[in-house]
Amino acid sequence: MYGGHIGIALAGKGYRSTMPLWVLLIATQLPDWADAAACSFGSGSPPSEVLSHSLPAVAVLATTVALLYYAYARDVAGSAFAGAIVVSHMVADYVTGLKPTWPGGPFIGLRLYRYPAADFGIEALVIVLGWIIYRRSLPADRRDSSPVKVMLFCLLLLQLAASVSFSLFPGIKKC
Ligand SMILES: [Zn+2]
Repeated sequence: MYGGHIGIALAGKGYRSTMPLWVLLIATQLPDWADAAACSFGSGSPPSEVLSHSLPAVAVLATTVALLYYAYARDVAGSAFAGAIVVSHMVADYVTGLKPTWPGGPFIGLRLYRYPAADFGIEALVIVLGWIIYRRSLPADRRDSSPVKVMLFCLLLLQLAASVSFSLFPGIKKC
């Protein structure tokens, strides 16, 4: 999943408005950043996806984020929430991609990327729903402001670009 992860972070911000949005954005993107780091600096064995997207890897990343957020904010519920947002990345990726379960285990997923139009539809839906939940949490006088509307437009455009790229270059690798 691409833009859908950001939609989930926005929904998280709408649900827990006291948490900084940047924390939720880091939490929702962390497995992909870990994948890029493992892909760039790792030996290739185990594969970067196992080191970033498998159940044990996501458990380590989620626990790390939860502990760091607790150290920052002393907010137990918020820490658990930040960890859950990391886990949401893995769940969302199982919908759109094919991801590892554990080292040596099977790769599972619905592989929606094979159908870029369906992928765009699902991710756009997650973005719009996340944006609606986020928007509801804003003060009434900011809900219809230009930046809030532009945010939705940019996210949908970003997802469209990703889905079009994927349909043009289906064998594209992240690194
Ligand atoms: Zn991912």
